[in-house]
Amino acid sequence: MKPAPFGYADPTSLDEALTLLAEDGAKVLAGGQSLLPLLSMRLASPATLVDINRIPGLDSVAVSGDGVRVGALVRHVDLLHHAEAARVQPLLARATANVAHPAIRNRGTTVGSIAHADPSGEMTSVLALTGGSVTVATPGGPQTVDWADFFVGPLETSVHGPAVVTEAFFPALPPRSGTAFEEVSRRKGDYAVCGAGVTVTLDEDSRVSSVRAAYISVGLVPEVHDLTEAVAGRTVAEADWSAAADLARTLVDPDGDLHASADYRRLLVGVLTERTLARAAEEAQTR
Ligand SMILES: Cc1cc2nc3c(=O)[nH]c(=O)nc-3n(C[C@H](O)[C@H](O)[C@H](O)COP(=O)(O)OP(=O)(O)OC[C@H]3O[C@@H](n4cnc5c(N)ncnc54)[C@H](O)[C@@H]3O)c2cc1C
Repeated sequence: MKPAPFGYADPTSLDEALTLLAEDGAKVLAGGQSLLPLLSMRLASPATLVDINRIPGLDSVAVSGDGVRVGALVRHVDLLHHAEAARVQPLLARATANVAHPAIRNRGTTVGSIAHADPSGEMTSVLALTGGSVTVATPGGPQTVDWADFFVGPLETSVHGPAVVTEAFFPALPPRSGTAFEEVSRRKGDYAVCGAGVTVTLDEDSRVSSVRAAYISVGLVPEVHDLTEAVAGRTVAEADWSAAADLARTLVDPDGDLHASADYRRLLVGVLTERTLARAAEEAQTR
């Protein structure tokens, strides 16, 4: 199918973009890798696409000891190959490697993926797991929105009215922590049937002090689950990761669909949790 007719504007400043977005039916266009398929299938029919690609200052990745700031025009591929960002927060490259295919990663943006708020998207869960936030430009000035207040439902965020998400902030991985990310999809590059991202943190005596997990394609919005109680105080050698996986299975409430039943997704949550925690714990011993 072809999209319904729509207007197009390509502002060169955020102020201009916000003025255009105040019009009825106007929508931000970033990489277009989610929005244009929706238009072509006539699942969305915005009056005007406000293309933000010509607005300067939105295409940088800024890395500091606190974390990684990803601008609205940073493509998935840029983050995938950003060695400094990967050093400070390894989940970024690990999760991005699972986002779609190279052609889509070349054009799609990390922030667009978060603004799209698809619970099957990798980066929504990574924002949640790292305790991140987004910065939103609005006519009243910039606002910072914590991940937990941002995601409201599938493809729905708490941001309404004229607004552009200008950056996403992913806090740094804490010391003595490790991460891992793994997913199952029908074909490489497809959306995940189920995925898991985890972090394991050790205390100064090298005993487990924190275990957290977030899942892909499991809930309606990203959720972070604290699995610490299953293995708290154990050394990495002593920890029984299957106990944490059992706990995770009780905490999630996946739906079934065309691709997988709810039971199969719950099974995958357990399998992926056990595998990723074991890897993350090994890594935690080296950092
Ligand atoms: C075949 C295929 C497979 C894919 N597989 C995956 C996958 O496995 N995992 C995955 O995560 N994604 C996948 N995607 C989606 C891809 O990652 C998109 O790039 C991404 O979801 C959206 O980014 P975008 O820049 O293309 O946004 P767009 O398509 O331009 O916009 C998406 C939505 O977000 C809004 N938006 C975008 N940027 C902003 C902003 N800065 N401020 C406010 N609103 C904004 C738009 O208005 C629109 O509603 C796939 C896409 C395709 C076509």
